[in-house]
Amino acid sequence: VLIQGRLLIDAERLPEPGWLRVEGKRISEMGQGEPPGKPDAGAADVLISPGFIDAHLHFPQFPIVGSDGLTLLDWLRHVVFPAEETWADPIIAERQARAAVQRLLRSGTLGCAAFLTSHATALAAASRALEDVPLRTIAGRVLMDREGPDALLQAPTPSFFDLPESAPARLSVAVTPRFAVSCSADALRFAGEVGRDAWVQTHLAENLAEVELVRCLFPDAPDYTTVYDAFGLLHRQTLLAHCVHLAEDEWALIAKRQSVVVHCPQANTFLQSGLFDLDQAREHDVRLALGSDIGAGCDAAMPRIARSMIDVAKLRRSTVAPKAHVPTPAEAWTLTTRGNAEALGFDDAGRLEIGAAADLLLLRPPLEIDEYLISRLLHTWEDDFIVGRLIAGRWLDSQIGPRS
Ligand SMILES: [Zn+2]
Repeated sequence: VLIQGRLLIDAERLPEPGWLRVEGKRISEMGQGEPPGKPDAGAADVLISPGFIDAHLHFPQFPIVGSDGLTLLDWLRHVVFPAEETWADPIIAERQARAAVQRLLRSGTLGCAAFLTSHATALAAASRALEDVPLRTIAGRVLMDREGPDALLQAPTPSFFDLPESAPARLSVAVTPRFAVSCSADALRFAGEVGRDAWVQTHLAENLAEVELVRCLFPDAPDYTTVYDAFGLLHRQTLLAHCVHLAEDEWALIAKRQSVVVHCPQANTFLQSGLFDLDQAREHDVRLALGSDIGAGCDAAMPRIARSMIDVAKLRRSTVAPKAHVPTPAEAWTLTTRGNAEALGFDDAGRLEIGAAADLLLLRPPLEIDEYLISRLLHTWEDDFIVGRLIAGRWLDSQIGPRS
């Protein structure tokens, strides 16, 4: 397939007119100027971008997006847990997982790391939802054995995180302790053992009441981050959502373990959790990713999450931290593509280069191509800027159903 368009190779630079060729699941050739033949897709005024990657969200929480008014612990109890309980029915679980995948594709998200629920059938539901659509996904059945409704609490068993045999190749599993509040020491020990050489995803220090509760539940631990570290849960394949309320030592420990901090700016605002300290992350050279955290975040579109990241940094700078770094649109945009791909180990995604996965978006925004292009894309994003979606070399648009 030969595609014509301006190539968004580097968000810091104006995209040059050019073309690329896709063979099988990969980009096989790229060039500047006129395409070497009649293009099969694209046009001179189309932008070609790598697909977006979302480093943190919850498949079962799409139905409750936008349920405002509570802070984290009450919101979990009154809004999230009742929604997650519906996944006890495998038919509902599969239907919701399919709807979640459709929603992501509509917004151009072609890879993600997702929490499911604690049910034994959750991974099977996600597997079936991903059978027809090769969305690259790291997903985990949620481990929680206390501080929640009985219907969601499960003691871990040896096969707790096993993928069904029929799982599609682009689905990999993550050991997913919900957070220290809802996991006993036994559960975290189990997670640390099975997660030693695997993806691990959890939440850390999102909200002050949660931090205080962890202090009560783990009185011997010097801080929240050490709770996870003591069970071997912090390593290069660990994704730590939020990290809003961390002490200096905790930042240093995360940096030392090379774990990834997943900033979820919109969710932090929605639940009134606090202002993420991007400066600490930068000073400690912590690996950073960006997540929608649906359903605490309300937008599936990663450019809007990138905008929220900039908004939060501006808000911090204009109030409590006058020297705060405000990311440029190009920095934030790059996180939603290459940055998140690298954080999730999708090393051949999030980039336009020969040999990279053909997980691509064709965009036709009503915008001038000038130095503000990325800035305007990000600040005015609409999903209908997307006029084509290619995933593993396959056009997907006919498979995306109507808005539901
Ligand atoms: Zn979350």
